[in-house]
Amino acid sequence: MTLLYTLPLAWLALAAALLFIWRKQLSALWREPVFTAPILIVESDDWGAGPVSQAEALINLADCLSRHHDARGRPAVMTLALVLALPKAGMAGRVTLADAEQQSILAAINAGRKRGVFALQLHGLFHFWPDAVTAAARTQAGVAAWLEAPVLTETLPSHLQSRWTDAGTLPSRPHAAEEIVRAVAEETALFAEMFGDPPEVVVPPTFIWTDTVEAAWAAAGVRTIITPGQQLTHRDSEGRPSGGGRAIRNGEQGTVGVFYLVRDDYFEPIFGHQPEQAVASLANKALLGRPCLLETHRWNFLASTGGQPAAAMAALEAMYIAARRDFPTLRFVSCAELALAIRVNDPDWIEQSARRRFTIWLRRVATLPRFGKAARMTGLLPILNLFA
Ligand SMILES: [Zn+2]
Repeated sequence: MTLLYTLPLAWLALAAALLFIWRKQLSALWREPVFTAPILIVESDDWGAGPVSQAEALINLADCLSRHHDARGRPAVMTLALVLALPKAGMAGRVTLADAEQQSILAAINAGRKRGVFALQLHGLFHFWPDAVTAAARTQAGVAAWLEAPVLTETLPSHLQSRWTDAGTLPSRPHAAEEIVRAVAEETALFAEMFGDPPEVVVPPTFIWTDTVEAAWAAAGVRTIITPGQQLTHRDSEGRPSGGGRAIRNGEQGTVGVFYLVRDDYFEPIFGHQPEQAVASLANKALLGRPCLLETHRWNFLASTGGQPAAAMAALEAMYIAARRDFPTLRFVSCAELALAIRVNDPDWIEQSARRRFTIWLRRVATLPRFGKAARMTGLLPILNLFA
């Protein structure tokens, strides 16, 4: 007879404990916006100042994107994270995207933008911190050789491709605040000069940035930062990205009010990623009421960086065909527009029904690594699902 009472009470205590222990993650998942339709954004980094063969690749990409429209007739959107300049040999001056020798690249970017298939995001003035590369070149022959013909930043050692930490020696050290303010002001002004408006969205090179950098971006008009779901702040003694703490979710805001979006799916044909895998990522995100931001890089589409342009373009084409076939309500949009929809809680994009949000929330909490398992084993999730 006693068991009849103690067992349910013990279960209730266990369920309450589970909910209490994970309350922060559970409430963060509740606050995270639920999107009303499947959303696909291909995010392509590292375009801009560099080899002029990019112009042809960008024209081909724009043609490919223009062939695919969502249910509302909008063409596929690829965001381009742009590098605005390259150093001259030995860091003696620089060539920007606006200079005559880079004009064909800038023209291809602007033409795609005009067709509505490219949305521009800031990656950085350079894809590195010049003083860090100069310092490393003093002791590393490979870096010194790179500096003699500094065209492809992809070939720099990975830690030197970070801009917002001084990785000239490892572990990296933070830049002085005034240096950050000066550099951010310079690159955002140059972006505005080239494209008419300051950047709304920033993709931190190698996803390393600090709160000081974020505050400088915000002061310059940046409203959204693309993140991998965490903030990395420096390179450790082995050169690995470090400093990631709490999980970042779509729509969360930093201390200065900048919005975060999460990009944690990948489509890099150069690594053998198949169109079906990208569409599976989209399916998973749609199930969880999240947009699918697929990371890719220019190197897939350039022979000079080891890519296979024709194969990569065919893979992209096949991916869009499959995505549109499998998701008739699919939407194409830019990250800036997506962030705006979150900011104003636009009912066209953001689910307003509490019941529908609860259903999606249950799916999301089931994916929390330990909570999901514990909640399934105790029967808590199956019981909550009865209310969905
Ligand atoms: Zn990059």
